[in-house]
Amino acid sequence: MEILLSILNLVLKSLFLGKKYQEAHPREFLQFVVINYYSPLNIIHILEAASTDLWGGYNYDSDVIGATLMTSRGCPFACAFCANLQQKTRFRSAENVIEEIELMIDRYNCRHFRFLDDNVIIDKKRFQKLASKLHDLDIMFRCSISSVLVSDEYMELLYYAGCREVGIGFESADDDILELNNKAGNATTDMHRKAVKLIQKWGIQAKVYIITGLPGETDESIEAVKKFIKDVKPDKWICLLFTPYPGTPIYRNPEMFGVEILHKRFREYVQTYPSKCHVNLKKVGNGEILATNKDLERRYEHLYHWLNKLNPESMEYSSFNG
Ligand code: SF4
Repeated sequence: MEILLSILNLVLKSLFLGKKYQEAHPREFLQFVVINYYSPLNIIHILEAASTDLWGGYNYDSDVIGATLMTSRGCPFACAFCANLQQKTRFRSAENVIEEIELMIDRYNCRHFRFLDDNVIIDKKRFQKLASKLHDLDIMFRCSISSVLVSDEYMELLYYAGCREVGIGFESADDDILELNNKAGNATTDMHRKAVKLIQKWGIQAKVYIITGLPGETDESIEAVKKFIKDVKPDKWICLLFTPYPGTPIYRNPEMFGVEILHKRFREYVQTYPSKCHVNLKKVGNGEILATNKDLERRYEHLYHWLNKLNPESMEYSSFNG
């Protein structure tokens, strides 16, 4: 498989070198590559061929030039709302990742990165190898991991590697919601609390990704999030509204989760503020409506503005900033 990927990589490189691909529009590149997320092929090795050359440097509204990259794809967990279906995680080698980062340093003097992996530390051996190389490059990065993976050992390693912010898939401070939605590693609010504290103990900023409108939510669930934020004091937060993405367990079995999907106009399934809600929540079994999409939008708005008012500096508006 590796040989096949190397050949594909070379073919793509030669295609673009012949075309001065530094000047090509990304769409011209993409026409050569069918990006099938669920493909067993490790497509990120192929994309590596041209991705950095199409990047012109970007400072994400700050003085610091930052870039995003992925060192792995896939997640072994199966949260019911997540479009990243449980699947075998595919990894780039530590050497391959370092090569790309060195290129970004040499060409753009870019020293701040965001790893978009779902769980960058999921392969311990690979991450240990990566960590020592990242340390030598003297860069800073942020990443995301699941609460269940937060430990002193990993946090020490992440700090040593240059990590200064860890985001956790928090979703909710209501244990019933976490359980119903099969939150990674049987996560509980207490696990989230310990994770935030442990991350901060190592001098790393802790960010929580909140989702409102999930199956099982009530007005009290929103109050529980507010209490968590006030008590536990994560450094940053991002607040999103649940969307029933195709392929997710909830999308495939909405009745099982007490969800009524109101329409499937996927073009409207966009999570940018102000978000629209596309579901009602119902009682499993008798179908009694527990919260309409308007109720869920109201709760989301309420929490969003509460968080924003509490500390605008802590509020992150997009999950894809560098
Ligand atoms: S841990 Fe994160 S990426 Fe993995 S399935 Fe759950 S929400 Fe998705």
